[in-house]
Amino acid sequence: MKFNTKTIHGGQEDVDPAYGSVMPPIYQTTTYAQTTPGGHKGFEYSRSGNPTRAALEKNLASIENGKYGLAFGSGLAAIDAVIKLLQPGDEVISTNNLYGGSYRLFTKIFEGFGIKFHFVGMDNATNIENYITDKTKLIWVETPTNPMMNIIDIKACAAISKKYNVLLAVDNTFATPYLQNPLDMGADIVMHSATKYLGGHSDVVMGALIVKDKTLADKLYFIQNASGAICGPQDAFLVLRGIKTLHIRMQRHCENGKAIAEYLISNPKIENVYWPGFKDHPNHQIAKEQMRDYGGMLSFTTKGNNYKEAIKIVENLKIFTLGESLGGVESLAGHPASMTHASIPKADREKTGVVDSLIRLSVGIEDIEDLIDDLKQAIG
Ligand SMILES: *Cc1c(COP(=O)(O)O)cnc(C)c1O
Repeated sequence: MKFNTKTIHGGQEDVDPAYGSVMPPIYQTTTYAQTTPGGHKGFEYSRSGNPTRAALEKNLASIENGKYGLAFGSGLAAIDAVIKLLQPGDEVISTNNLYGGSYRLFTKIFEGFGIKFHFVGMDNATNIENYITDKTKLIWVETPTNPMMNIIDIKACAAISKKYNVLLAVDNTFATPYLQNPLDMGADIVMHSATKYLGGHSDVVMGALIVKDKTLADKLYFIQNASGAICGPQDAFLVLRGIKTLHIRMQRHCENGKAIAEYLISNPKIENVYWPGFKDHPNHQIAKEQMRDYGGMLSFTTKGNNYKEAIKIVENLKIFTLGESLGGVESLAGHPASMTHASIPKADREKTGVVDSLIRLSVGIEDIEDLIDDLKQAIG
């Protein structure tokens, strides 16, 4: 099956045995009747397994070209499960331009449990090798990154992870499997905040992991069941429904994202536009090789880099909603310096490019003329 078919049919071969319902029923149940101890139909207790969640997990595996999918209560719960593969004393090399919640989980929770994190620049993947020790167990990559849209070479990271026999995990939330498939490029684990593009309608918080290797999958299933950060059946149903339109939504997100990037760069009030589709983006060539298109996420700064002016722009927007999160059908705008990155000291955030006038857009799938008109009136 090709991608568009997989979003709809991947892992969904088993037709509902009761009534042949086309969508898997929402099995809103905690437990399953047994005829004799152990005599069940594959499900015993819904933390360990639930048929609606299982349908989603098979679909997740299919769209990421993996063998095993696991769904969690949030993206962070999925990352939490990955780090629980490690032991005190182990080391992780993570990209330094990273989702704030991942950074908080690593530094405020897992450093306390004796795991050491190195946050390093990966624009040139060879830099990773400078931090490898015999304690390194995991490389954590996010590409494109939030909010600067840096691009990291997944194949180059995979070559390093293989050379030193460490795991490579890729947070594929921004790109989605429509744009890139890290497992095909040699990654061991793909992670998603399904809250974003996979769900796609800003109505469910969920996380996912996808792997190919059975031993690794078994360890992660053990953690999923033992720690218990699963999602509910209703949410599994919603994400499964969301994924069925992922390809057509992403196609429009990409078209609108490109049009807005081009509009912004032509506006004399705009200083920089961060979007991997531009030829002068530092890693454009890598983006072109590893992604099928450039997505619907972009950031920009205004000339003069004025904090108050940036706040005014996001307040003036009418179709773009000012809010956190991304990846829904509706366009969202965010001001990282005062919102998602407010907790990072100004000097530190500016080092990674998060200056006062930076505005991040999650470009939705509305009519492009309306979106551009909205930006025009807000920027002035
Ligand atoms: C939102 C997000 C997460 C965290 O996911 P939640 O579902 O909010 O827990 C992790 N990584 C990236 C890139 C995200 O955008």
